Amino acid sequence: MLEAAAIRAMFEKDQKVNYDWVLQQEVKTWQQKARRPRILMHSCCAPCSTYTLEYLTQYADVTIYYDNPNIHPRAEYERRRLVQQQFIQDFNGRTGNRVQFLGAEYRPSDWLKQTAALKNEPEGGARCRVCYNYRLDRVAAKAHALGFDYFGSALTISPSKNAQVINALGLEVQHLYSVAYLPSDFKKRGGYARSVAMSKEYDVYRQCYCGCVFAATKQGVDLAAINREATAYVAAHRDRDYSGIQFHIAPAKQAGAAALPPATQDTATPAIAGETRAAAIAPSGGAAAAVPLGEAVLAPVASTTGAAAGGRHV
Ligand code: SF4
Repeated sequence: MLEAAAIRAMFEKDQKVNYDWVLQQEVKTWQQKARRPRILMHSCCAPCSTYTLEYLTQYADVTIYYDNPNIHPRAEYERRRLVQQQFIQDFNGRTGNRVQFLGAEYRPSDWLKQTAALKNEPEGGARCRVCYNYRLDRVAAKAHALGFDYFGSALTISPSKNAQVINALGLEVQHLYSVAYLPSDFKKRGGYARSVAMSKEYDVYRQCYCGCVFAATKQGVDLAAINREATAYVAAHRDRDYSGIQFHIAPAKQAGAAALPPATQDTATPAIAGETRAAAIAPSGGAAAAVPLGEAVLAPVASTTGAAAGGRHV
């Protein structure tokens, strides 16, 4: 487990921590030990996962964890989730990788309880810090419950997100669950530019706002239009078969899977009991049959404000 103080000590006092360099050093240790760790990687959308997966899959087995209750409206949450799954499926098809997907139930009210008092904060301010922390906490809990070696977040690829804050939070959260946080700053070394290029190559939808109703309203996003477009997209794509990428425990890890909670008793992480899960509950060696639990149903948009959305991806 990398510690914040030890990382800080690698840099001069007045120097910003280069978390991309820290990640590269960690990758070197895997290579020296001929180790290929299992990583549960939080992703808020397909664009953020593009280069993140291209880089990490060279050295590790990655499962994308889609848990983003900050996204408003619900139809947009569902659209980004479907686009995320489509990208993983396409990425695996083109590269021969076996990236898996695990999605959480949509529970925006829990997130709102923590952020509503900060609704007037500017993007990048105190509300975003709470939002990063909320999602990192959930991915860490899940990584711990499922026996991953690391948890991390693709949020650091965005130039609009403060990687110093995200990494500092991740290094704190790792101690709550005894699972190692993987530092990163994926935007560095051309990572963000590569994510833009990959989004074009894979024809990935790039949203024009970060996700929450507060930032979208401030930005003048037309949430009614977003809701209409997202609802139409979901209606057209929701029956696509993504069972081939659904998370399941790899055979090599199944011996240790007895420590995991059975699917019908997901009480260890009750807030995400509605996830779409697969053969974590299948008998050893069994086929990875996806089990949709608590599949979200589209609801009417709650907010309709602002002018037409711009083309910004965050
Ligand atoms: S702007 Fe983005 S990171 Fe900040 S609170 Fe809203 S959804 Fe979260």
